[in-house]
Amino acid sequence: MAIRTRFAPSPTGYLHIGGARTALYCWLFAQQKGGQYVLRIEDTDQERSTQESVDAILDSFNWLKLGWDEGPFYQTQRLDRYQAVAKQLIDNDLAYWCYCSKEELDAKREAAMAAKQKPRYDGTCRHGREPVEGIKPVLRFKNPTEGSVVFEDLVYGRIEVSNDELDDLVILRPDGMPTYNFAVVVDDMDMNITHVVRGDDHINNTPRQINLYKALGAELPTFAHLPMILGKDGKRLSKRHGAVSVMQYFDDGYLPEALLNYLVRLGWSHGDQELFSVEEMIEKFDFKHVGRGGATFDTDKLNWINGQYIKAAAPSQLVSLFKQQLVKRDISAPDDYPMEVLVELLQPRSLTLAEMASNAEFFFKPLAGYDEKAANKNLKPAAIAPLQAVRAKFAALSNWQAEPIHTAITEVVDELEIGFGKVALPTRIVTTGGTASPELDQTLALLGQAETLARIDAGIAYVEGLES
Ligand code: GLU
Repeated sequence: MAIRTRFAPSPTGYLHIGGARTALYCWLFAQQKGGQYVLRIEDTDQERSTQESVDAILDSFNWLKLGWDEGPFYQTQRLDRYQAVAKQLIDNDLAYWCYCSKEELDAKREAAMAAKQKPRYDGTCRHGREPVEGIKPVLRFKNPTEGSVVFEDLVYGRIEVSNDELDDLVILRPDGMPTYNFAVVVDDMDMNITHVVRGDDHINNTPRQINLYKALGAELPTFAHLPMILGKDGKRLSKRHGAVSVMQYFDDGYLPEALLNYLVRLGWSHGDQELFSVEEMIEKFDFKHVGRGGATFDTDKLNWINGQYIKAAAPSQLVSLFKQQLVKRDISAPDDYPMEVLVELLQPRSLTLAEMASNAEFFFKPLAGYDEKAANKNLKPAAIAPLQAVRAKFAALSNWQAEPIHTAITEVVDELEIGFGKVALPTRIVTTGGTASPELDQTLALLGQAETLARIDAGIAYVEGLES
């Protein structure tokens, strides 16, 4: 039988990291098994569902290049089908209308709590009750009263829940809308889903859903519940811990392949391997090695992985994303700017494309000043002579390229008989603003001769100004 998985987000906000990981696992598993992966938008909560959220979710998948084989399906386009299945349950005496008012239900709940019993619906309407005027009923499923539900979760192993723990689930709301547990079962059944992979916040729903499958005579899918993603403090990952929206990672200059690589390892392992191409993920992913404990989100590790992908990329692959980051910093480079050269220069020292753009600022914007610590240490009167000597050599160069620039600096070192750093450091600070730039000769080659000379002049003036 063909393997079919699905990802079923509720469009009540952006796609978050946890959802993206679930979708990735569903997708990888289907790919590996030569099966299909279905995208279904669970939009029956009409107050909270928005088109904007649907778009945000689709944008995220687009960016991550996580396509789907079927869909997106929308639950609101399947309302007739839920009604039909509800009718089937009523006709088979497996569901009943419940007229209990909110006040009655509240009173029952309080009574149960007072008696130290688990609050659950007591079945008043299950045993027959005349319609109550003015009350729009809900439809409840007749949960079995005996036995237990047992299933083998691919991550959590065997789970057994006694039926007397489960009450009669509401499957249609007063307005006729299906509840999550009902719609999800009808859909997974109709869409021939073989593997339901989702967050373990749904693990308590699964026994209820299994009873519904049985009542509908449908074959049970296999379930895999994924442990929550936690922040470093051990609490469920939330905005407090930093970015949780997938598109925020796009904005912050991460590469989609790197984020997928990070996500595949977030709760799953394959020995101690950290870096996986998409092909390798597809080949190696399994549920057996998904951990049961929560997975801790570690931004340092994500940054490291992203840095690896940035280093490994061809500069041409990064140019357009890098330019977007420059635009965010109000930098518009001339059309003929040798962008690939700049990217290549910055690749080894940038963990994100945002960082790359920040590292590139001095190429495009006038220096806002010098790094204070570096300047205090290196821009002293003793730096004037080397700066002047370098300036003279630079001004005389007719071929403004890394090699002659490098030669000019070493000539000054030899002529003044001082250490390389005594020449290179002040030069670097006055031209780039600090000490963290890429190789000086290549940097200056790209910065241009006129701009380099002007910055050295400003640097000399700065040091001379200190003297007086
Ligand atoms: N719409 C549900 C959610 O976003 C889907 C749960 C499921 O996969 O069954 O949590």
